[in-house]
Amino acid sequence: MSLALYRTYRPARLADVVGQEHITMPLARALDNDRLHHAYLFSGPRGCGKTSTARIMARSLNCEQGPTSKPCGACQSCVDLTAGGPGSIDVIELDAASHGGVDDTRDLRERAMFAPASSRYKIYIIDEAHMVSTAGFNALLKLVEEPPEHVRFIFATTDPDKVLTTIRSRTHNYAFRLVGNKDLQKHLASICEAEDVSAEPAALALVARAGAGSVRDSLSILGQVIAGSGTDGVTYAEVAGQLGVTESVVLDATIEAIANRDGAALFDVVEGVVDSGHEPRRFVSDLLERMRDVIVVQSVPDAVQRGLVDTPDDEAQQIVAQAELLGPAEASRAADVISRSLGELKGATAPRLRLEIMAARLLVPSAERSDVGALARIEHLEKALASGARGAEATASTQAATQAPTDVATELTPKASTQDSTISTTPRKSKPATKASAAPPPPKISEVAPSTAMDADAESSEAGATADPDSSGNSESADSSETSGAPTHDAKPATTTSTVSAADSDITLEGFVTMWPAVMDTLSRTRVAWVLFNDSRPVSWSDGVLAVAVDSPGKVANAASSGHDEKLRAAIADTLKVDLRVDVVVASTANAPASGTSEANSSSNDPADAPSVDDVNVDDISGVDLVMREMGATQIGEIEH
Ligand SMILES: [Zn+2]
Repeated sequence: MSLALYRTYRPARLADVVGQEHITMPLARALDNDRLHHAYLFSGPRGCGKTSTARIMARSLNCEQGPTSKPCGACQSCVDLTAGGPGSIDVIELDAASHGGVDDTRDLRERAMFAPASSRYKIYIIDEAHMVSTAGFNALLKLVEEPPEHVRFIFATTDPDKVLTTIRSRTHNYAFRLVGNKDLQKHLASICEAEDVSAEPAALALVARAGAGSVRDSLSILGQVIAGSGTDGVTYAEVAGQLGVTESVVLDATIEAIANRDGAALFDVVEGVVDSGHEPRRFVSDLLERMRDVIVVQSVPDAVQRGLVDTPDDEAQQIVAQAELLGPAEASRAADVISRSLGELKGATAPRLRLEIMAARLLVPSAERSDVGALARIEHLEKALASGARGAEATASTQAATQAPTDVATELTPKASTQDSTISTTPRKSKPATKASAAPPPPKISEVAPSTAMDADAESSEAGATADPDSSGNSESADSSETSGAPTHDAKPATTTSTVSAADSDITLEGFVTMWPAVMDTLSRTRVAWVLFNDSRPVSWSDGVLAVAVDSPGKVANAASSGHDEKLRAAIADTLKVDLRVDVVVASTANAPASGTSEANSSSNDPADAPSVDDVNVDDISGVDLVMREMGATQIGEIEH
């Protein structure tokens, strides 16, 4: 059995060309309707079917039954031009890389004048057309512009931008593209069937990925793995081994280490990768692919069922678990870091060092000054709190390598029971925690957990059980509007399982402010809406209408016209179980009246309560305070300039 599959399975008709329907269909119609041009330019990446298509065109043009999109395969011309056939004297293939000079083209010009020996057309297929020299092409210019009736040109190139404009303007241009993984996989499966070799779909997906959109490369790889396959046929494990793909367990360990900020584990992985002789670039590129899968699963919950993630079932389960472990912002930030490292690894002299630097960057998003880095920190904090609530000590879940996030998480426990003034330093948690003087801290934290984890089913019932029934009962009787009693109230919606209407809810504006990061987290599932609202904040709350301030009038208009305000409403309902109306306003104009009402309410009704975010003039507080208050940061020192 010959395993030069790409030669054995070279397409014979336009309809057989894989993944280039946008080109083969119009060409087939042009052939059948006899609307042919005298010169074509096929451009596109290597191995995606340009030369094959050019040969099929020649065959279609010269078939005795033709020109036709379905060459008969029986006439002399068809037989001569069949894949692996002797070729036809009237179809001349030239490689411009070696025959693009002026002498070659003059020669071509002279011979083109003679009529074809036995076929309808004399067809020149000129490969690597961008290599034709200017002088060479000038010699051809007249011929390509107005060739004799019996001459046809097909130029092919990987680099259309470098093709002389004089060629481009005289040809019909068709841009070939990389073949999609799905098409490639289907093609590979059909070839395995024809070769009578059994193959696991996930194994073929791996081959297609390695082929990177090139049919020729994919078939070469397939030939290799078929040759090396055992009695089980082509299996995922075999292919992964042969292609040097990073083992799934290594990737699992890496992702888990990133999610847990476990420096020791992450550097162990790097050590292992280097020691086992893995190609560092390969590892990083596989890690990037995995991160891509994680991101896809985060954005599309049924991605595995939809076939957006091509992996064996057990690995898919891992990916789904990892998608929950990492927050969306953290995953996308990690993907950025990995992608950058992949670029830096190219030709790097110290790949191990590069890997370690990548690991360090992955571990410390707090060093990242971007919004995404900040968001990643918030996500991690929430995770730390949620896992702390899960029963164990908050400290147990966070590993040694973590610095700032751990500190904040552990600090929260004592702070929760004693602290009562700087409520807003940790927007989402400290509110309910202030009430903790009446109850032991641990249940309080767990009371908060489900809201950050967004009704993680099992936990919400657990939390419902641990929540102090007295405190919520008290606060309900104490008041009925949004005026006061914030501490216990904002915990309440989190523990209820179904949405309550705004009128029935006793959530306060402060409650919204406190829970806003969690709402944003929910909203981040809808990327565009999140971008619009990520720096928004609730500014007033009355009669079931929550005014949300954004920083520009453009965003207000955008929110209404795009329907993203509806997405925000849904995210609030989802997170806080409150059904309300959202009014998007511009920050500066909305501030005055909004904070006015809330101030009046909170200060008159509940003077003992801590100031809300709106009570303090933002200009009066330092940047450090702002970061601490808005993002739950911990100050670890100050650098003098
Ligand atoms: Zn024929």
